[in-house]
Amino acid sequence: MGWSVAALQPPQPKAADAPAGQFSAARAFAHVQQIGAQPHVAGSAADATVTTDIATTLTGLGLDTRVQNAVGAWESAPGTTDMARVHNVVGFLKGSDSTGRLYLMAHHDSVQNGPGGSDDGAGVSTLLETVRALTAGPQLRNDVVVLFTDAEEACLCGAEAFATSHPLAGSGGVALNFEARGTSGPPIMFETSRGNAGLAAAFAEAAPHPVATSFAVEVYRALPNDTDFSVLLADGRFTGMNSAWIDGAAAYHTPQDRPDLMNRASLQAMGDNALALVRDLGDRDISALAKPASEDATYFPVLGRLVRYPGSLVWPFAGASLLAVVVLAFVLRRRGISSLRRTAGGTALALLPIVLGPLAAMGLWKVLVAIRPGYGAMLDPWQPGWFRLATVAVVVAVVLIWYVLLRRRIGAATLATGALVWLAVLAAVLAKFAPGGSYLTAWPALAGAVAGIVAAATDNRAVRLVSALVGGAVAVVVLAPTIALFFPALGLKTAAVPGFFVALLAVALLPALEWLFADPEERPASRLAGAAVPAAAVVLAVVCSAIGLSVDRFDAAHPVPSQLAYALDRDTGKAWWASTETDPGAYTGRYVDGRATLPVDFPYLAGKDLTVGPAQVADLPAPLVSTESDAVVGGKRVLTVRVTPQRAGVRLLGVDLAVDGGKVTRAQAAGRAVPEVALGEDHLSITFHAPPADGLQVSFTIEGGGAATLRATDGSDGLSGLPGFQPRPVGVDVAGTHSSDLVLVSGTTPLG
Ligand SMILES: [Zn+2]
Repeated sequence: MGWSVAALQPPQPKAADAPAGQFSAARAFAHVQQIGAQPHVAGSAADATVTTDIATTLTGLGLDTRVQNAVGAWESAPGTTDMARVHNVVGFLKGSDSTGRLYLMAHHDSVQNGPGGSDDGAGVSTLLETVRALTAGPQLRNDVVVLFTDAEEACLCGAEAFATSHPLAGSGGVALNFEARGTSGPPIMFETSRGNAGLAAAFAEAAPHPVATSFAVEVYRALPNDTDFSVLLADGRFTGMNSAWIDGAAAYHTPQDRPDLMNRASLQAMGDNALALVRDLGDRDISALAKPASEDATYFPVLGRLVRYPGSLVWPFAGASLLAVVVLAFVLRRRGISSLRRTAGGTALALLPIVLGPLAAMGLWKVLVAIRPGYGAMLDPWQPGWFRLATVAVVVAVVLIWYVLLRRRIGAATLATGALVWLAVLAAVLAKFAPGGSYLTAWPALAGAVAGIVAAATDNRAVRLVSALVGGAVAVVVLAPTIALFFPALGLKTAAVPGFFVALLAVALLPALEWLFADPEERPASRLAGAAVPAAAVVLAVVCSAIGLSVDRFDAAHPVPSQLAYALDRDTGKAWWASTETDPGAYTGRYVDGRATLPVDFPYLAGKDLTVGPAQVADLPAPLVSTESDAVVGGKRVLTVRVTPQRAGVRLLGVDLAVDGGKVTRAQAAGRAVPEVALGEDHLSITFHAPPADGLQVSFTIEGGGAATLRATDGSDGLSGLPGFQPRPVGVDVAGTHSSDLVLVSGTTPLG
């Protein structure tokens, strides 16, 4: 089991004097230190410096490099859109005989409160060092576009502006995006375009550290999470793959996402993969890969390699596992080991540990949060390793207790077969709803059933032992790496999901575990020894939890996250503290006292169930709204306003127009048309990131209706200086959300 998980671990980082044609984490890390020196949110002076640095580096490497200055728009829905002024750095590396374009992407902006050492210093430094290594070698066959996007954190608007308006977006191609959600762990190729068979094959063959699972692709497609890659996929002209490392999530989007916390081995792995993939895809005919293949592939890591087969085999394998389990049930009956009726009973009983295991995993995390409330707001604690082991132990303990209580009454073979029924059924359910995940239970069920048939057919103890071990080994090799990837992916907050797969692995191992209990004469001493096995798992869970609690302590370097924002409504002269923490910690609790939805629709806070408290009114003005023109053209009212912040450090503007009974049929902000999907309502709400310093010009075309009012809100970062605000004590720091430490000031202007 150790081997199958250890094979996921990233390699030794290469030193700065590594050969020029290789990727060196040390050389890449020099870029990380430069980029991640301070927060560089879109529109900030720090991000302008990062933009210039990247452009200078690319130009120095001989790439034709330009900065795209544009306005992007994304996340539009009826009545609302996000927009941003962006500066994308775009470098072009001409191929010798191009068959299509390869796009390499990472975002250069960070969140407002963190330096983005890993997010996305990981991707930016990976691409800069990859391009350096490429330019040290022979020219590639295909054209390569290197794209460093802006405003990914704000609204994916840089990627959108590139896709919709940059000439190099052309007719699209194959895109590779590089990200990080945390500071460590193996880079995982976790997302692909649809019809990924060809791309998965290329990845499996080229990537030296092929950590990827088709189940992650299924899970990610079902989640609302987004990166720049989502924009390209939605565009339709691109295919591609998205990679990220995701462990060390406690630092994600926080002030602790510093360069020095980045795991250099993770960087080496990401770089090795990027360079190898670009060389591979850069030199072959990629015209076929630039179109979706006819099907998705199934793939998963096994002992350092990627096992892969076409999606069309998912159903045959799931079917084979079901059939094998049915055959096993009949063999047991024929051999007089278990009747079909008993096996059906065993199947019903096998549901217990599969359901109770994940609940126990969830319960353990609840206990840990009760002991250390600061964990409540975190996806994962700072050092989750011991807690993950404890979670595995607690789930295994549940399975073992269930097994010890029932194995003599029901029969070991009956219970093990009952468990295999569920694995095979799940393989079919997954084949239907998430085919990329069916392998997780199809192979353990198939191997377990075949091993069971062999064992039932013989009285030879050695053959029975070997078949139990082989069946168990298949379950370990297939399930353990995916479980190891699941823990960081979902966090201990969602430990029930990896807990579910731990329970499946544990029940698949029952025939092998049986040898810990096996004693043909069932002497009393062996019963005692039998009880000792689950007891050992319980002790292990307690010990691992205790070690985890003593190793993982909150301090200045590993603070408790605190999420707090300040919102001021100039119209009513009311101000609030607001937090997204559902159960506010000691520090945040000083400001908030109950749950409520704010009466004013502030950006990021609108409509959310928040914990809020009254705040003193700060001496901060709302943005100034001035009408530049207001005329009726062709029966429609065309209204142009300028919204100008009246205070320093404004990062975003919220512009909400409401028309009494009318319809907003067109709109433009900073010269960019608002996407059609946001139009047609009696209101339009634009959240504009990185607005121009001299104010944002917005024009609306309104059909029908009466008076219009415009609410303008501006947002800046940092709560210090606000009346009543006390800086956080040592050991408490800003939480990693887009609304942390946001100061919002709002006012309405009637426009007649
Ligand atoms: Zn990112």
